[in-house]
Amino acid sequence: MSKTPGQIRKGTLYLCPTPIGNLEDITLRVLYILGEADIVGAESVKVTKKLLSRYDLHPRLVSYRESNRESGSQAIIKALEDGNIVALVSDSGTPGISDPGVDLIGRVLDAGFEVDVLPGPSALLPGLLLSGMPAEPFIFYGFLPPNKKKRRQTLEEISKSRYTVILYEAPHRISKTLSDLGEICPGRRCALVRELTKIHQEVIRGTVKEVFQAGFEKRGEMVLVLAGDPEIGMKEESKKVISGGMSRRDAAKILEENFNIPRQKFLRLLEGK
Ligand code: SAM
Repeated sequence: MSKTPGQIRKGTLYLCPTPIGNLEDITLRVLYILGEADIVGAESVKVTKKLLSRYDLHPRLVSYRESNRESGSQAIIKALEDGNIVALVSDSGTPGISDPGVDLIGRVLDAGFEVDVLPGPSALLPGLLLSGMPAEPFIFYGFLPPNKKKRRQTLEEISKSRYTVILYEAPHRISKTLSDLGEICPGRRCALVRELTKIHQEVIRGTVKEVFQAGFEKRGEMVLVLAGDPEIGMKEESKKVISGGMSRRDAAKILEENFNIPRQKFLRLLEGK
């Protein structure tokens, strides 16, 4: 394989994204770094070995996963201290996005070493774009908290966002999440994006209620995208305009032009009705 531009620096931890389904989705630069690395931290040594052997790469793998974060990060920092080229991969996607990698990044920076991130696969952006929802701005929540009360609070908070919200969800919890959201905001637009880049890739778009009732397979990997609340967006814009000293009537006129929504509706919103 030809060498890619850019030098590899010792004392830097390279975050290397790996495929989220389709094994072809790996960049030449990631393969180059993984081929040159003295040590690769891997969430699952078995999964990473399988991926790398496909490309005839056989770096030394050390385990870095949720259950050994303490000892795993010590081993990785020691490898950086010893002047090794060190990379990190997770089971899929970009290490640090909803996986234990994020903790290691903080520890490596605190220890005075550099971190570099190679661009590559993650479920987040394909999920967002396939949803068809506005992509800017968006809020990424990752997984919901496991605690029942906090989970519900988070769902309520999410439902009040004016921006598109992205969640990672597990197949055994998706029905509960959609049913809870159905109690909070049944008519809100949402999209369930399953099995990205795999043979059974699927997108279900509709209201929360419709997606809950759709007969999709409750297995595989999934991203849930919820549209922002349009009324909250309008209310916030209204407040901004009015705080600039404009009358309600003039504000409603401007907002009508911007949002293409009847002036009377704005006047009702501005009056909090
Ligand atoms: N680091 C990964 C990334 O960059 O997307 C995320 C790791 S997190 C442990 C795994 C979650 O990511 C899954 O539960 C799912 O929500 C999402 N995910 C990963 N691969 C996916 C895929 N092929 N299709 C849909 N969602 C996926």
